[in-house]
Amino acid sequence: MNLPYIVGNWKMNGLRATLAEARAIDRAAARYPKVEMALAPPATLISRMREVVQTIDVGGQDCHVAENGAYTGDISAAMLKDAGAEFAIVGHSERRQSYGESDETVRAKATSALDAGLSVIVCVGETEAQRDAGEALNIVTAQVAASVPQGDDIAPRLSLAYEPVWAIGTGRVPSVDDVEAMHRAIRETLVAAYGKPGKDVRILYGGSVKPDNAAELLSADEVGGALVGGASLTAESFIGIVEAVSPAEAE
Ligand code: PEP
Repeated sequence: MNLPYIVGNWKMNGLRATLAEARAIDRAAARYPKVEMALAPPATLISRMREVVQTIDVGGQDCHVAENGAYTGDISAAMLKDAGAEFAIVGHSERRQSYGESDETVRAKATSALDAGLSVIVCVGETEAQRDAGEALNIVTAQVAASVPQGDDIAPRLSLAYEPVWAIGTGRVPSVDDVEAMHRAIRETLVAAYGKPGKDVRILYGGSVKPDNAAELLSADEVGGALVGGASLTAESFIGIVEAVSPAEAE
């Protein structure tokens, strides 16, 4: 049985001074043995963060499909691993939208991350127009089928993050019923892709998760954790989410 997995994506936020928040999260993690926590800082902070935290995982927010080469400004999965990362997020909607990343590219990135020895979080999610048109389930399950890496023995190192694009950074969240319907459909797609091991892939919810809505969203069927943007930037709000999911144990 997987523990809830709460992952913070710092996006393009964080300087060396911000590592104090990561340290505080890591210190607090000892009081939450029933939750797994991770942070994905900007690439510039991965190795420094890895040096100052013990309990939480550290990961990258993206990686290139190639292992190395003439790709100015890009970072490979092998480089993330070398910097101390344990996982990579791929296919975030900000990458899909701003850099035109297709499902095919996301799958190639996910495969590259696994090949480098990282775990991977593959993000999917519908736009508001797609939800309004009643297409959310079809769009998202098609994204999952086309974005997840192929092969055997992948499921244990794979997480999915369902992040409705219209819920990211907006303060709006889907109803619990809609989250459950989507996570069940994603589960079916994962089982179709991987067989029985697909039942154990974590499916995270992401999009405006905060301390005051985390308990409800994460109690929904098939929700195995959260991918958190804005509320992961301070220990207070990140640990507030963790506390809502599973209260601290006495030390
Ligand atoms: C995200 O970008 O992955 C995210 C979920 O952001 P926020 O929590 O700020 O909505």
